Amino acid sequence: MTSISYLWAPPEPASVAVQGSEQRLPVQRLFFVGRNYLAHAKEMGRPVDAQRDRPFYFTKSPSALLASGSSVPYPQATSNYHYEMELVVALRSGGADIAVESAHEHIYGYGCGLDMTRRDLQFAARDQGKPWDTAKDCEHSAVISPIVPMPGQVIERGRIELRVDGEQRQDSDLSDMIWGVRELIADLSRMYHLRAGDLIYTGTPEGVGPVRAGQRVDGSIEGVGTVSLQLLAGKA
Ligand code: MN
Repeated sequence: MTSISYLWAPPEPASVAVQGSEQRLPVQRLFFVGRNYLAHAKEMGRPVDAQRDRPFYFTKSPSALLASGSSVPYPQATSNYHYEMELVVALRSGGADIAVESAHEHIYGYGCGLDMTRRDLQFAARDQGKPWDTAKDCEHSAVISPIVPMPGQVIERGRIELRVDGEQRQDSDLSDMIWGVRELIADLSRMYHLRAGDLIYTGTPEGVGPVRAGQRVDGSIEGVGTVSLQLLAGKA
């Protein structure tokens, strides 16, 4: 048997804690849904017509994952760093062209996530027709709670909320999602062969806004859990 020899130690595989287990969930890819709540789409100045429009997606590198409860510096290259509280679906299996009716069979469980965003870079990119990568896929920008195993279960409702230094900033319900969990899995599988370990951040409700150095973000989703992030005082 030949063993592979690397120039330097390769990075550890990306993984997420699993509630009630000492085993971790190995992460494959991070998908994010854009504008999945009507009121948030409106506040971004890009309303969604649920009949005519389709979901759209962007990705982050698995290296952008950050465990809930972490303390990290305020990021580089932004003066408008935003929180986005989101339900995250973790897949245990996948495939291509999955039917809506069977999409739930691929669900391993759920987590609470923060899609942290350099909003100033996002708006500049959007207005110039450029990609979102530098706005979205930056270090520590995909905050994730432990995954709660709920194999095959569909979550359709439940309070989703977020506070900054204890002040309520987002307060909505998962039933306000335009495209539900099964629709998103099915739709995404038309573009990618989904796999075990793929995480889908399902979009944020209204009330997004900035978080500053030294501030703390706390969010929760009814029936799933909580997520938190502490930004250290001072610049990176
Ligand atoms: Mn988002």
